[in-house]
Amino acid sequence: MQELFQPQAAQPAARVLLDGFNDMVLDYAIPHGVEGVSRGCRVEVPLRNRSTTGTVICLTPPDALWGHRLKPLTRLIDDSPAVSEKLMDLAEWAARYYAVPVEQLIRCIVPEPVRRERHEEKTRKIVVLTQWPGDEEMNKINARAPRQAAILRYLHQSNTKREPLADLGGSPALAPCRVLEKRGFLRIEEEAIHRDPAAGESFAPSTPLKLNDEQQHALSVITAEQSNNKPIVLQGVTGSGKTEVYLQAAAHVLQQGKGVLILVPEISLTPQTMARFKSRFAETDTHVAILHSAMSDGERFDEWHAIHQGKARIAIGPRSALFAPVQNLGLIIVDEEHDSSYKQENAPRYHGRDLAVLRAHMEDATIVLGSATPSLESLFNVQNGKYSLLRMDKRADGQRLPLTRVLDMRTEAKDKRNLGILSERLRMAMEERLKKGEQTILLLNRRGFARSLQCPDCGHVVVCEHCSLPLTYHATENRLICHICGYRAAVPRKCPECASAGILLEGYGTQKVEKVLRNCFPQARIQRVDADVAARKNALRDILADFRAHRIDILLGTQMISKGLDFPGVTLVGVLNADIGLSMPDPRAAERTFQLLTQVAGRAGRGEIDGEVIIQTYTPHAAAIQYARRHDTDGFAETELELRKELEFPPYTHMAVLTVRSPKEELADFSINTLHKKLLSILPAEVSISAPMPAPIAKAYGQFRYQCTIKSRSARLIADIVSKEIKELNTGEDIIFTLDIDAYSFM
Ligand code: ADP
Ligand code: ZN
Ligand code: ZN
Repeated sequence: MQELFQPQAAQPAARVLLDGFNDMVLDYAIPHGVEGVSRGCRVEVPLRNRSTTGTVICLTPPDALWGHRLKPLTRLIDDSPAVSEKLMDLAEWAARYYAVPVEQLIRCIVPEPVRRERHEEKTRKIVVLTQWPGDEEMNKINARAPRQAAILRYLHQSNTKREPLADLGGSPALAPCRVLEKRGFLRIEEEAIHRDPAAGESFAPSTPLKLNDEQQHALSVITAEQSNNKPIVLQGVTGSGKTEVYLQAAAHVLQQGKGVLILVPEISLTPQTMARFKSRFAETDTHVAILHSAMSDGERFDEWHAIHQGKARIAIGPRSALFAPVQNLGLIIVDEEHDSSYKQENAPRYHGRDLAVLRAHMEDATIVLGSATPSLESLFNVQNGKYSLLRMDKRADGQRLPLTRVLDMRTEAKDKRNLGILSERLRMAMEERLKKGEQTILLLNRRGFARSLQCPDCGHVVVCEHCSLPLTYHATENRLICHICGYRAAVPRKCPECASAGILLEGYGTQKVEKVLRNCFPQARIQRVDADVAARKNALRDILADFRAHRIDILLGTQMISKGLDFPGVTLVGVLNADIGLSMPDPRAAERTFQLLTQVAGRAGRGEIDGEVIIQTYTPHAAAIQYARRHDTDGFAETELELRKELEFPPYTHMAVLTVRSPKEELADFSINTLHKKLLSILPAEVSISAPMPAPIAKAYGQFRYQCTIKSRSARLIADIVSKEIKELNTGEDIIFTLDIDAYSFM
């Protein structure tokens, strides 16, 4: 009876976030026969006179729709929601925090190949023998259809009694198989083929190592049964055996039937971490899924579905993998949590570590933030009690930390034989290694686009009076500008410190250094690694393999080679220009330099022989360099946090960068000034904004760039107010505003 009187409109409708329309949301009726529509489901819907796809963000109650005539949605794409409730919550939270459309986050959660749905699972046919006809019948078959008999015999002899159709002669064998299937002798099955990004690589199984005391303690804290525990910062020196702890913690969590997510800075630069997970779980039937953008669409599609269906219970990947649909998540590991590649530098500009912490909280999972040099953000959270700290101060392999020397280039470079690139001391150390058949890594810190002024005689860098950060030279205005507060200064003719007239913008690249090296060591096998070289597919992987096999004596590279690599043959690491990073217009410049130097030092002496590190610098007394020399993370953190507090820099405040881009310079300039004026008049006292200024990269891709820096204790406040004002400005298409909350790049 009731059914009869139930009006059609009393059905709840699905509120659908359409793909590719920013945050356009439409309601659709759920037609009879379409079951199981819920939040996070992917659906196909009509839009005007075509069809599109979208994600259900909620079901709207019937009342609200009374009297409306809604178009029905066309179909449900997957049987179960592609986006779980928790990931929907995460997307909505992140969208608000970073002031971006929710749809941009849904795109991260349901990656392109999955969304396009084009890469349907590939299958292959398997032929299974169900009944052996017996000799008599076989003779008959053989006489009539020798082909059918051959197929039956082949299957009869196979151990498993099941073989791929391809092995039975491929598609020509299909017709005879069908006949035999009809007669009940065999069955043809479809089997999904999993496209495996690690196919072709083999991973020798590894067994868990016996943990030392520090590791054992770390493991027991990480695996302790506690609900809603705090994020754990695992501060362990390079080589302290953090990865072994991750492996055993992961095994423990898997045993409890839960899933594990491992985030690494960048998979191509950290192939060893991935390989160690593959190896450890090689013998169990645990599929370790890999997710990263360099994989083919088919591989991404398959790995994503393997995770989503719960077939893969471990997923490993770079920052975007934090959105992987791991079922029943028990543990997240963020390896090298300080690494700046966790920050996405295009929309949505989220921080992978921060969202991972939020996800762990939402899913009641344990999260471990591991690093030899934790970010100041994380150490600050330890100080204020939000995170807990675990330490591993000893190297697990019993090696000593390398001896680090700091060379003062103000005196070393007086010897101009090697263009001031390679000091005589470093050259001699390298020659010694060559003679002994040991390997050297040379690191050239890349300066990016920012150019600051440094005196080659005394090392003085021209800094801002207000922020004590280096000023950036702008050729167009011939001025120095502070990129944090907007302060402008004239370019000095002489060094303000020592009055040398030589103050200049000089810098050098990897190619120039390579030339110098080839002159110094004509007999050595030298390989350069920089963005140019790494752009070739697999080039980096091949070079690292060659280096490991000792087919290369000297590896010269940018920051790229400082990450997570473990080469037993390396006994010397040289850093050519340690202070270049210090002259970036960036509140985290010192922190980054400290981390880079400490990490790179960890690459020396991982084998039997003690390592040596030589750091060339014009500013030998800089805190970042001195603390790195002593491997003193605590000392550095204490000093640097004090400075940040004084200057009101992160982590004591949130810093956002507001950028405007336009092909027309006047337009960019005008728009930023208009917005700046408006913001000045409405921003509450707890939000401060710098004067507008041209960006350090003042023009890129044909667009002029202007920016302001905004600071506040509350990131929410910045996001809400500024994004609302941007929308209200209603500018034309040739003006693009971007707001980068918790910015890591000020370029
Ligand atoms: P980290 O990740 O902290 O840099 P790793 O996990 O890579 O350290 O360990 C460094 C080296 O020490 C590796 O070669 C690893 O196999 C070895 N190692 C780790 N734990 C142990 C242990 N408990 N006993 C012996 N060797 C270990
Ligand atoms: Zn000087
Ligand atoms: Zn300043």
